[in-house]
Amino acid sequence: MPHSHLIKPVLNDTYPEIDYGKGVYLYDKEGTQYFDACSGAVTANIGHGMEEIVQAIATQANRVSFVYRSQFSNEPAEELANHLAKETDFPWCFFVNSGSEAVETAIKIAIQHWQEKGYASKTKVLSRWLSYHGITLGALSASGHPARRERFHSMIGDWPVVEPPYCYQCPFEKEFPKCNLQCARQLETMIKRMGPANIAAFIAEPIIGAAGGAINPPEGYYQKIKEICDKYDILFIADEVMTGCGRTGKFLAIDHWGVKPDIVALGKGLSAGYSPIAATMISERVMQPIIDGSNIVMGGHTYSANPLSSSAALSVLKLIQSEHWIEKVEEKSIYLQHYLKKLKNEFSFIDDIRGKGFLLGIEFKNNWNVLKAEVDASFTSYVVKEAQAGGVLLYPAGAGLDGKSGSAIIIAPPITTTKREIEELYRRLRSIFSIISSKVALQ
Ligand code: PMP
Repeated sequence: MPHSHLIKPVLNDTYPEIDYGKGVYLYDKEGTQYFDACSGAVTANIGHGMEEIVQAIATQANRVSFVYRSQFSNEPAEELANHLAKETDFPWCFFVNSGSEAVETAIKIAIQHWQEKGYASKTKVLSRWLSYHGITLGALSASGHPARRERFHSMIGDWPVVEPPYCYQCPFEKEFPKCNLQCARQLETMIKRMGPANIAAFIAEPIIGAAGGAINPPEGYYQKIKEICDKYDILFIADEVMTGCGRTGKFLAIDHWGVKPDIVALGKGLSAGYSPIAATMISERVMQPIIDGSNIVMGGHTYSANPLSSSAALSVLKLIQSEHWIEKVEEKSIYLQHYLKKLKNEFSFIDDIRGKGFLLGIEFKNNWNVLKAEVDASFTSYVVKEAQAGGVLLYPAGAGLDGKSGSAIIIAPPITTTKREIEELYRRLRSIFSIISSKVALQ
């Protein structure tokens, strides 16, 4: 008889049970302290155990936790939608429970938009390799992540068609700026081949997260993408599930490039992990034909816009705003990057440091080998395991262009992390990397 029936990511592995969290730290039942250097799954954006949020959730739970959205609206959900509209300049908002659902909803709204306008054949959604948009079948269809797709081919849609903007290992083996943004221009070629009359939208993560490890595009990339989308009447969906809600130093990461998408998916940082909620934000231009047409959005879940999660997200966003945490991200990011670069100089298995704000990535030289016989893992998962054993949590990322050979991690501590805590993180990573360095060798 197994000890527990809770399905874990790796079934026969053991996972420490967490007891509580405070700020950047988590504590397990054995009393071990972990520095949460990746905010879980880049989610606990304002740290753990924030008293104001806990109070707001308790107050709402005392009033009402759940109402069904087809019977009632509720104050926290209405207020949250208003707050998001002001913050993002997207007037329409649909609440769901996970990033995957926010992406699914974005795709469905894009398709419905064209149907309501009388273009029923515009249904395909183009996407990039080296991407992750979610685990549900629609979001997985758009994901350029072979390892996550391979079991479900019969249930998912077309493969992605566009190469990622990955200068570190350019898929076209070119160099910026001589490449003339071939990765962006490839979208136009694909649109022409497939026919714009069949394409509803193009979806991309402004900074490539789970599949790439915090990869920034080259300058001008998103401007070119938007120009191409507009030219062929294709909606641009920004998947900001990981990058949004202030993580990169702006509320939306795409604002770093001054480009306005048509639809945005938010998740993770929206409630910073205090309760499951995600959102699809939609422009007036995209919504208008739907309002003028069937006047309903074909989507929604039982828990959509529930008052409890809405109050959690609302209190998180209000706190972020009143404490001006987003405005402080850039300066602290420079500080954090300074220490990551120091690590790169000290440890030769580190090859690339990148990302924006508090979404930073480290790519390892991919010809490093783990010497310890008992470790049967990729270098990334080996590093993540050793780091956890040493009291630092890191997020494994980087599928690689072939979906298998990538070797990167994401460093994304809560945006509330202080400079002193950044220094502590550096010291801890330094000693973990020293241990790793003594156990690995170049192949
Ligand atoms: N999109 C992006 C960019 C993500 O990073 C993720 C989660 N890693 C998702 C979608 C899916 O979100 P969820 O796990 O909440 O379904």
